[in-house]
Amino acid sequence: MIIMKADATEEEVANVIKEVYKFGLRADVSRGEFRTVIGLVGDERKIPFSHFAVLPGVKEAMMVETPYKLVNREYNKLLDAECDCRPVKVGNVTIGGGDPVFIAGPCAVESKEQLLRIAEGVKKAGADILRGGVFKPRSSVHSFQGLGANGKEGAEEALFWLRDVGRKFEMPVITEVRGESQVDLIAEYVDVLQVGARNMYNQDLLAAVARTGKPVMLKRHFGAGVEEFLSFAEYIAAEGNKNIILCERGIVPVGKGKSYTRYTFDLAAIPVVRKETYLPIFADPSHATGRRDLIYSMSCAAISAGASGLMIEAHYNPAESLVDSQQMVTPDELKEIIDACRKIHQVVSLASRVKH
Ligand code: PEP
Ligand code: MN
Repeated sequence: MIIMKADATEEEVANVIKEVYKFGLRADVSRGEFRTVIGLVGDERKIPFSHFAVLPGVKEAMMVETPYKLVNREYNKLLDAECDCRPVKVGNVTIGGGDPVFIAGPCAVESKEQLLRIAEGVKKAGADILRGGVFKPRSSVHSFQGLGANGKEGAEEALFWLRDVGRKFEMPVITEVRGESQVDLIAEYVDVLQVGARNMYNQDLLAAVARTGKPVMLKRHFGAGVEEFLSFAEYIAAEGNKNIILCERGIVPVGKGKSYTRYTFDLAAIPVVRKETYLPIFADPSHATGRRDLIYSMSCAAISAGASGLMIEAHYNPAESLVDSQQMVTPDELKEIIDACRKIHQVVSLASRVKH
């Protein structure tokens, strides 16, 4: 990190940036209220600290000792921006701005009628953003892979419905990008690009979604530690895109015998992530538990733990859903969940003000 003096001129800042590129590195420039901070992106071995430290206008060149620097809470502190969370704007919805945000919808888009009916239900229940998978990551090649599997036309038709239905109910939309070749097409239609748990480690995909400039939701891999999770969020930030929403969605269960949930919902990761980064963190109790009867309690728990919002799968008739039918809640159940979570959020945010 290169911290510029409070009175550094624009020329001095431009000169430092030029020097950074001369050494084969990239610069992440953040302008705070009182000073400018330049984060260096690239191979650390190439950084000549003593050279940068004496450039005109530079106050200090310092090493940040974590694998994630650009998304680190400390970076914000250097800018004198002691905010709890840096909000991410998604259409008319603000994520991490104080009020919890609810993303809901089917696991997969199956037809326009299915999407319309679910969207109407989740909107009435109080959801803010509509989800729907077009390219589904599935364990078996013999199962329904999403309408994206029907070639470019099938994908485009489903994406068109998603955008259209989202507009009809005034909800921004999110869908998963499973591979680099899908990035441009998907970015044309949706407001948030989702990188699924299985792809958290795919740094080429992370860079490609980041370069669209659109907000990105990064889901935690089921085998990833929190440090690793944030280190891969850094790949998105390193492309100059800090509109990142993290999402805890459960990790691999331990021990022998049945675990009774699809994954182990790592609730403690939520406050831990909040301490480490200024990025908003969501929780997905649907994939974490895989059980409709647990979504209410785990949603309440995630909001209590400080999640900026939830992603919940919903369907008017769960049994009909081609994917993940056992974890879908109905729109009526979703309404109960959202109402309870909004109340809990009020109590918890009041309590945290008292605590500090
Ligand atoms: C999803 O949200 O549709 C999904 C497949 O989730 P995950 O990547 O967390 O498994
Ligand atoms: Mn699903």
